[in-house]
Amino acid sequence: MKKWLMAGILAAVGAMGAATEPRTLLLEVRDVPAVAQQEKGRLAYNDYNRDTVLSLVRNTAFVLATPAEFAALKRDGFHATQVMESADRMQLIKRALYGPTLTLPAIYHRYDQIVAAADELVRTHPERIARVQLGETTQYHRPIYAYRVSRDARQPQDQPGVLFDACHHSDEIMGAEIVFSLLQKLVLDYGRDPEVTAWVNRSEIYLVPVVNVDGHDIVTSGRDPRWRKNARDVNGDGVAGIFPEGVDVNRGYDFNWAMGGSDQPDSERYRGEHPFSEAENRAMRHLLELKHFVLSVSYHSQGEVIYYPWDWRGLPAPDDALIKEIAGEMASRISTMEGHGTYAVSPGGASSQSYAWLYGRHGDFDFIIETGKGTHLFAPGEVPGIIAANLEGVKALFARMRGPGLAVHVTDARTGQPLVAEVWLPRIESNMVDRRTTEGAFGHYWRSLAPGKYDLIISCAGYQTTVRRDVTVAAGEWTPLDVMLRPE
Ligand SMILES: [Zn+2]
Repeated sequence: MKKWLMAGILAAVGAMGAATEPRTLLLEVRDVPAVAQQEKGRLAYNDYNRDTVLSLVRNTAFVLATPAEFAALKRDGFHATQVMESADRMQLIKRALYGPTLTLPAIYHRYDQIVAAADELVRTHPERIARVQLGETTQYHRPIYAYRVSRDARQPQDQPGVLFDACHHSDEIMGAEIVFSLLQKLVLDYGRDPEVTAWVNRSEIYLVPVVNVDGHDIVTSGRDPRWRKNARDVNGDGVAGIFPEGVDVNRGYDFNWAMGGSDQPDSERYRGEHPFSEAENRAMRHLLELKHFVLSVSYHSQGEVIYYPWDWRGLPAPDDALIKEIAGEMASRISTMEGHGTYAVSPGGASSQSYAWLYGRHGDFDFIIETGKGTHLFAPGEVPGIIAANLEGVKALFARMRGPGLAVHVTDARTGQPLVAEVWLPRIESNMVDRRTTEGAFGHYWRSLAPGKYDLIISCAGYQTTVRRDVTVAAGEWTPLDVMLRPE
């Protein structure tokens, strides 16, 4: 007891600080007391700390330490044992994050394996799934693929869109596994599972298992399990993939770009030279040219929390109440690794990340789901549980793909042709967000809304602007609203 009390007091003093000698030891510390795990605690886990606490899962930490720090931990009552000693820090990091084999556990998939399996589904189920190339990676020009799943994937559908993407941050590889699992479930359970069949019949689903393909390869090939950014050779010396080079792909979008990330190339949050400087971000922009999304999820690790748009220096998003409600519906279905609770929700900042851009520019309610807790690369035994928990969260998102909300359909009053029209709800949509438009091919715009009455202003160049007041959105499914615009 006394020993633990002491550990508690020391833990409150602060995390392990700067060492005077190199940290050549990898320690496993079991039964880390809660006080030492807290923010500023002695063994607190921090996503950006690559110098001391490399992981902290289920009260067991892997820690880089000097011999003096090892002695101090033991003296202070921590259950610390030495796992490995090496002057080569990468070996210690690999042991901590990959596990005893020092290479990627076989439960995880390399990108070529994901693509091969998904392509096989495209071959065997062409009516259900199609592959769409979005672009090529910045450094190695590898293809970045989206997969489209719908009731007839051979052509674009006049259906509300939903998007699942992962691995903007390549070391957060759980997301690729979740999206890959979902992709297989959607295709293989269609026609067998009524719930899955209904999801696919009612929406057009895009899945991007890996956005940052080059970085994912650095992690999955066993080169560096820490790799977060893309592989851009930032300093132009002809050598790529040397930590901490690269650009943070989740800081490269053009919504409040300069407010987000860092302009320092060595930063883990380096945002690049300009918005959309990175091909991975341009690939996602291309996807948004193909399809509008009502709702979407971007999978990350870690923290067991869902971030939603947004907290813009104290100001909530125009759709804050509804977005928060949907985030809560998903979070309440996703069990934590401990199993006693569910994911938390929190507004995220309004800058440069995918969710701010997707919501602010495109009207898509996008959610970052931080899967798992205490590391970005989970031990094999944890993987199935985290995937299963997150597939439960997906159900809440698909429930919202049925409505409630408005399904606005805008056509030319004379010809009946669909129009790309601006659909503005002026009581909700302030100048914080761009105006939303119908999709060109079909003239539709689906918008999640709470049941109630709304005013709309529908406009299109060359046509008379139309105002619809007190349009009633019913509870339940989409409320259709057909708008025919008269040429000026
Ligand atoms: Zn992330």
